[in-house]
Amino acid sequence: MTTPRVELRLDAIEGNTRTLVDRLAPRGIRVTAVTKATCGSPGVARAFLRGGAVGIADSRVENLSRLRDAGVGSPLTLLRSSLGRARQVVERADVSLNSEAVVLRALSDAARSAAGSHGVIVMVELGDLREGVPVEHVGELARLADRLPALDLIGLGTNLACQCGVVPDQQKMDQLSALVDAVEAETGTALSVVSGGNSANLEWALSTPDVGRVDELRLGEALLLGTEPLHRAPIPGLRTDACTLVADVIEVQDKPAQPWGAVAQAAHGPAAPRPGSGTVRQAVVALGRQDTDPEGLTPATGLTILGASSDHLVLDASHHSLAVGDEVTFAMGYGALVRAMTSPYVEAVLIGDPDG
Ligand SMILES: *Cc1c(COP(=O)(O)O)cnc(C)c1O
Repeated sequence: MTTPRVELRLDAIEGNTRTLVDRLAPRGIRVTAVTKATCGSPGVARAFLRGGAVGIADSRVENLSRLRDAGVGSPLTLLRSSLGRARQVVERADVSLNSEAVVLRALSDAARSAAGSHGVIVMVELGDLREGVPVEHVGELARLADRLPALDLIGLGTNLACQCGVVPDQQKMDQLSALVDAVEAETGTALSVVSGGNSANLEWALSTPDVGRVDELRLGEALLLGTEPLHRAPIPGLRTDACTLVADVIEVQDKPAQPWGAVAQAAHGPAAPRPGSGTVRQAVVALGRQDTDPEGLTPATGLTILGASSDHLVLDASHHSLAVGDEVTFAMGYGALVRAMTSPYVEAVLIGDPDG
């Protein structure tokens, strides 16, 4: 098989989805699964849906097109708003997340000329300072979405722990629930989606005695990596080996632990100091910053990452036997996964794909 490659184990992704769907269902919360870290992989989307996700969401129209073209038939949600591509949004997404009146008007016009309708979730700013309207303007924007001819106001949502790491806690979620009640009272429209947040909401959602009106989470990282983003801790019962990165060894040599000669900057800025003294058995892997985020990689036990440039990753292999031509497998954090999936040099290999 070619290297470098991301291996996506679909049985593990399906199993992680099923486990969280089953834990959240008794609390009245559905899972919309997020494919953006896999660039809208249809195989991954199908694994999410087999695991019980009620729909698929992605942040890019291109990825939604990829899913629709591959025949993924579930509801599709665009995770951000787009003014310039309103036409494509209404053609490709059933629902989008919105926070601007001008975008709502464009979506309504586009949906009307396509003789269709488009679902709107109004995003509320609750302190993480990414997307969302201030609480005091939620009613106004929701009324507009409700009034515009080709739009369906289907719900409210919020997104925390993405930009500033603000924790989705009981107080924030209670605030969202109260807004839902207020908007329903003002518009006379029942909201069918209260989208509490992303994988960072799991800690709250699985422990709170009161979910309030929250009835949906948008989950990516937890399903793919088995981790929660607040502390980057593994979630008990989930597999953390669903997505791995494999690359091959292109040099193994015994070398001094420390560089010699006058030292200035390295290719990507000042080099991190290398540990130790004496001699190390150094392995070079054909993988670099153009393929992934080396800081987000964890190699097998016995291997330590010493540094990386655009296309070479250097390992201390003194405690792990490696030979030229061997493949090395790395666990990935969220950033490393996103970069690897987006790199044109890295192939995505679906393992256990019933369709392929
Ligand atoms: C990326 C994203 C998600 C999914 O986040 P994870 O941490 O991967 O679960 C949910 N909602 C929005 C708006 C997003 O942009």
